[in-house]
Amino acid sequence: MYDIIIIGAGTAGMTAALYARRASKTVLVFEKENIGGQIVYAQNIENYPALKNISGSLFASELFEQVEALGADFEFRAVTGIRKNGDFFIVNAEKKDFSAKSIIIASGVKHRRLGVDKEEQFIGGGVSYCAVCDGAFFKNKDVAVVGGGNTALADAITLQPICKKVYLIHRRDTFRGEEKLVEYIKKQPNIELVLNSNITALLGETFLEGIQIKNNKTRKISSLILSGLFVAVGQEPSNHIFSNLVALDENGFISSSESCTTSCPGIFVAGDCRAKEVRQLSTAAADGAIAALCACKYQDI
Ligand code: NAP
Repeated sequence: MYDIIIIGAGTAGMTAALYARRASKTVLVFEKENIGGQIVYAQNIENYPALKNISGSLFASELFEQVEALGADFEFRAVTGIRKNGDFFIVNAEKKDFSAKSIIIASGVKHRRLGVDKEEQFIGGGVSYCAVCDGAFFKNKDVAVVGGGNTALADAITLQPICKKVYLIHRRDTFRGEEKLVEYIKKQPNIELVLNSNITALLGETFLEGIQIKNNKTRKISSLILSGLFVAVGQEPSNHIFSNLVALDENGFISSSESCTTSCPGIFVAGDCRAKEVRQLSTAAADGAIAALCACKYQDI
């Protein structure tokens, strides 16, 4: 039996592990994909206090080393559910059960799909959700990024020096992402903004060969010949496996208080899977610290 089981080894989960270990709690962290979560895909982090510039992968590996040295255990398995058993919780992970007095859910979010035909079929054949991971496959090729948030802007900036041409397609004419990034993009001769436009079809048989676009003001339909499409239309949680115990909001995020408590006493939540306004590296770390300290307090009362 662990004091605290943490689900997810992203920034929020590993920060929670750091604080819980420093409070002498026994800690097990589950991760089903990669240590560090989404931050490993960030080429440069320039908005984390006191770190002027660090790569996402270095940030994640430093945090992992810090947490491992403090004595947290890690299990590389997918959690499939949690149930309550008296005063403690049972976590099921790939047919094996683990128990703990408290749980911190820090399971993050996954890439939202664009929702056009052939999208799933073309993953690995021209459609990607990660410019940092896959950009190099499109050297000197024409590609498009779809989305208007910080991820789409950062993806266009990542791809611009690699690719011949980058179309940035957004359904509105103003961006949700940072103005500073938009200004930078506007100065790049090989990035073309395609605004007020939706992708209506993916063209090609085995591989992506192009896209069809509809301008939602003029209703004009056109196509672009492309080798790659980077989808950056936001993220969504996968919290349904926890919905037997904790309340979710209408978008599937876990409802919580400022103390990262959930509707189930003993279960806490941290990071992007939590219902909140701002999803940044610094807020993920803050959530991790709060959730861990509140879980410690819950056990010590
Ligand atoms: P986001 O901010 O939610 O933006 C998603 C974008 O996709 C929006 O522009 C949205 O358009 C568009 N969109 C959504 N569904 C669509 C659809 N079906 N078809 C076409 N477009 C669609 O998501 P994000 O960019 O992944 O960012 C997520 C969070 O991480 C944000 O809080 C962001 O600030 C943060 N982040 C921060 C950094 C950084 O600090 N540098 C980097 C990356 C991400 P509308 O605008 O019209 O709704």
